[in-house]
Formats: sequence, C-alpha cells, structure tokens
Amino acid sequence: MIRVDGRGFHRFSDRYNFEKPNDLRALTLMNESAKVVMRDITDVILAYGDSDEYSFVLRKQCQLFERRESKLISTFVSTFTAAYNQLWSVHMGPDAPLDVGHMPTFDSRAVVYPSDKILRDYLSWRQADCHINNLYNTTFWALVLKGNQTRTAAALRLKDTFSKDKNEILFSEFGINYNNEPEIFKKGTILLRVTKDVTLKNPQDLSERQLQREEKKLKKAEIQQLHIDLIGDDFWNERPWILNN
Ligand code: ATP
Ligand code: ATP
Ligand code: MG
Ligand code: MG
Repeated sequence: MIRVDGRGFHRFSDRYNFEKPNDLRALTLMNESAKVVMRDITDVILAYGDSDEYSFVLRKQCQLFERRESKLISTFVSTFTAAYNQLWSVHMGPDAPLDVGHMPTFDSRAVVYPSDKILRDYLSWRQADCHINNLYNTTFWALVLKGNQTRTAAALRLKDTFSKDKNEILFSEFGINYNNEPEIFKKGTILLRVTKDVTLKNPQDLSERQLQREEKKLKKAEIQQLHIDLIGDDFWNERPWILNN
C-alpha cells in the first residue's frame, strides 16, 4: 500500500479558499489525479481517498521496480503531484491560478500488510477516520459559518464531545441531519478497475506477449468510482476478485 498526503493542506486550503468543510471541486481534483496514477500504474487494484490523502493498494504479486521502496514511493508521489498540478485549473477554475510560492505538494509512504485481513483493517481505519473527521469538520464549520462563532470558540465547544453530541448540535441548532450529508463526504472515494476479461494470472506464468496484452487491457479498463462502506463484509463478498487479485 502506498499513501500520498498533501503537505500543509490545512493552510493550503485556506490560501486557495477551499469551501469549508468540504470543497467538492478539490475532492474531484484528488479523485481525478488518483485515476491518472491508476491508469499509469496497472499494479494498482484499488485506491481509497478522502481529504488530502489517497491510498493505493498494489496487487500481491507486484514486481514493479523489483518492489524497491524508494522507486515506488517517489514514482507514485511525483505522478500524483504532477497530475494534481496539471488538472488544478480544470477543477478549481481559471480564477484560482497556482502561484509558485504556494504549490500543492505531497509526501508518501509505503506499508506492506502481511494478510488480507490486515489490509482490510487498514482501509477500514482510513474510512473510519474520514467519517470522524467529517463529522467534526461539519459541526465545527456549522458553528463558525452558521452560528457565527469564532474558530476558537467552536473548537472549545467541540472539545471532549462524542459523535452523538455532534449529531445533536447539527440537528437541534442547525437543522442538519448528518445522515443526509453527501456520501462522498461521509465515506470518501473508492476507485476500482473494472477488469472482467483480464487473465490476471501470476505474471511469471505468462509469456512476454501475453503480459503486454494484459497490461494494455488493464490500462484501458474503466475505473469505477464508489462512495460506499468498505468496513463491512458486503463490499468484499460482492467483489471477491479484489483480494483474489
Ligand atoms: P500535513 O502536512 O501534516 O499532512 P495538513 O495541514 O495537510 O498537514 P492533514 O491532517 O493532512 O493536515 O489535513 C488536511 C487538511 O486539509 C484538512 O484538515 C482540511 O483542513 C484541508 N482539506 C483537505 N481537503 C479539503 C477539501 N476538499 N475541502 C476543504 N478542506 C480540505
Ligand atoms: P529510467 O526511467 O530508468 O530513468 P530513462 O529513459 O529516464 O529511464 P535515464 O538513464 O534517466 O533513462 O536517461 C534519461 C534520458 O533522457 C537520456 O538518455 C536522454 O535520452 C533523455 N534526456 C534527458 N534530458 C535531456 C535533455 N536535456 N536533452 C535531450 N535529451 C535528454
Ligand atoms: Mg496533509
Ligand atoms: Mg491528510
């Protein structure tokens, strides 16, 4: 798994006036940049993203760069960053040009998960994190933007509160039912390659020509974008090919 995360995006999102708590254009830009990475690097079987981060899951038998960590993380993060910069004006509009002093940059890391179960735990953790942050941010920005509270007062109000308290503040003070918030905000984004007619045998069992053909199919495969739960078993039971590679 390789995860990229925006550097200093708290300030970066302020500098470019991201809509708070969730700028849909910025999320779309993240998703489209991740698709560029997925189209370029066919070993990616699934990607999950929210906020300023994206996790790319590589297939078990991946032999890209002989699995050398520095090669992998530098290639992923530079491909992602290049796409994000290139697609910026497409999604953020022409009135928000990037200036050289405040460029969007990303860091990245690689982690090897030793089993399917632990890989699933990792992805569940990221999706749970998305939910926790989104509930907090939705409540925080409701207090600031609709409740006219200062950021400091809003943060103080939310200190030591539980999920149910935040749901209650949203509902009783702002008439917001958190359950009705857009799924992309609550669940983040899952990207999957739709690869029905690809062999996906162990690369060692394929001839050079077969390998090239498979690679071509993978590059052309459609990338599906979902905003659904991946913590429960349903997601995985309905898509057994993900973990079977
Ligand atoms: P670091 O460099 O350590 O990652 P950071 O400032 O990027 O620091 P993160 O924990 O990665 O901190 O948080 C990213 C922040 O970027 C969010 O808390 C939020 O303020 C902002 N952000 C990211 N995406 C969006 C978006 N689509 N809409 C609004 N704000 C966003
Ligand atoms: P890898 O992905 O393994 O690095 P590569 O194709 O980038 O493969 P390098 O050994 O890095 O191989 O070589 C870079 C090549 O790029 C050079 O051999 C040259 O053909 C081309 N190149 C780089 N800079 C210039 C330049 N300024 N003018 C003309 N050609 C250049
Ligand atoms: Mg960040
Ligand atoms: Mg982040």
